[in-house]
Amino acid sequence: MDQAKLIELVKMVITDDNRILIDKADLYSYSFDASFGSYLPELVVQPKSTKEVSALMKLANKYGIPIYPRGQGTSLSGGPLPVNGGIVLDLSTWNEKLEIDVEDMIAIVSPGVLTASIHEAALEKGFIYPPDPSSSNVSTIGGNLAENSGGPRGLKYGVTKDYVIGLEVVTPEGEIIRTGGRTIKNVTGYDVTKLMVGSEGTLGIITEAILRLYPKPQATQTLMAVFHDITDAGRAITNILNYGVLPSKLEIMDNASITAVEAYEPLGLPTEADALLLIELDGHPEAIRDEITRVQKICKKEHVAEMKIASDESESKSLWKARKLVSPAIVRKKPTKISEDATVPRSNIPEMFRRLKQIREKYHVDLVVFGHAGDGNLHPNIIADKRDKEEMKRVEKAVEEIFRAAIELNGTLSGEHGIGTLKAPFMEMELGEVGLDMMKRIKQAWDPNNVLNPGKIFPEPGERFVLSDD
Ligand SMILES: Cc1cc2nc3c(=O)[nH]c(=O)nc-3n(C[C@H](O)[C@H](O)[C@H](O)COP(=O)(O)OP(=O)(O)OC[C@H]3O[C@@H](n4cnc5c(N)ncnc54)[C@H](O)[C@@H]3O)c2cc1C
Repeated sequence: MDQAKLIELVKMVITDDNRILIDKADLYSYSFDASFGSYLPELVVQPKSTKEVSALMKLANKYGIPIYPRGQGTSLSGGPLPVNGGIVLDLSTWNEKLEIDVEDMIAIVSPGVLTASIHEAALEKGFIYPPDPSSSNVSTIGGNLAENSGGPRGLKYGVTKDYVIGLEVVTPEGEIIRTGGRTIKNVTGYDVTKLMVGSEGTLGIITEAILRLYPKPQATQTLMAVFHDITDAGRAITNILNYGVLPSKLEIMDNASITAVEAYEPLGLPTEADALLLIELDGHPEAIRDEITRVQKICKKEHVAEMKIASDESESKSLWKARKLVSPAIVRKKPTKISEDATVPRSNIPEMFRRLKQIREKYHVDLVVFGHAGDGNLHPNIIADKRDKEEMKRVEKAVEEIFRAAIELNGTLSGEHGIGTLKAPFMEMELGEVGLDMMKRIKQAWDPNNVLNPGKIFPEPGERFVLSDD
């Protein structure tokens, strides 16, 4: 449909022209996310009410217009990209509601609220909202729900799906439904709330969410353990967890991430180390003291080279800053970052490290490993230059082998970044033909005209994994 006709239709539903973006520059800025690929939408609409979203979806079904929900566009898998043109639904400006109900221990939020704002509002009332993706300062709760995002705290506290108890959703056909509610227990019928979470904007548009909060832990303590061999670090992770300590965070940085961060902003990290673990313990101060002793013993057994206990809040902040800086630091080397999140069961973490080492050597790629090692959710990142076609071919093969390794080790393609466009070609490898077909049938039942976020999750027949342009 040409843009003029589309604008005419949209104006029947959205009466405020300022919320319909048609300028080339605007459209261009919505053609990207934080992954690969660039697709121009015909126009961008910024809805501000459930009624508007519902009316837009009805219009989309009537005229066969693809609609792409979008939060802040920080997806690492291509989730919000308008691969078939049509309309991008920018939900990031719809951020007015952020209520904390102290008695029910819940937060009620609009889709465009930033996750960090929920953290702040909860803390002010003595609570925490545990899901903490590293992007929480710049990503929306709508995006977090659609991707089922997780973060360092996932190890102890779980991920987004563990905290959502109710949703308001506009279905692909434009109906408005409520799922779940304000109670922690709710087993009335199918768990549609959980079906929506992680559906990557393909089954409905989340217009409001009810989130569960936890009491703020009494104390926290950060430790750093330095290793000369990354596989020793891998074994230390498994043993810390096997011996009854459940840290609130357990993150790993390999040598390439450590040196990149030090070059980016000197924080006094041990650049000669093969890997370091950052560990946060939380709970009662007495329990933390006991757990520190146990963690120290375990790390010693695994040949730890150095252990540091943060002496105060500012030292602990500086250690966690190192982890946060890995992403910006590594892209200084080369401009293209392929950020993977292949995840394996804890027992296979040391083997996964071994395989990643082999892949790095086999394909001569700049492979950096960091991530939420405590839950097996590693982030093997490859740093490359998109313009170097020969390098990108090697990167493609390396990424494919990373996915295969994760699945062979009983893991998964994605622990938190989602499938989007990027990993669609590998879906059958993990789910099998029948498993994938059952998922397609759910999509067909909810979205018979395939207008909501088409081109995501499910591979086109014969689709291959490509990162280079040819
Ligand atoms: C530097 C960096 C660090 C990151 N760290 C983490 C991390 O630690 N953990 C993690 O899990 N992810 C991480 N991510 C990935 C990303 O931030 C998350 O996937 C995030 O949840 C996306 O939120 P967003 O608002 O940017 O959504 P977008 O990227 O705009 O959209 C993501 C998906 O959600 C859908 N969507 C958005 N809003 C809605 C809605 N209201 N209803 C229905 N569907 C919707 C879109 O269609 C799309 O499929 C990181 C990304 C970057 C760039």
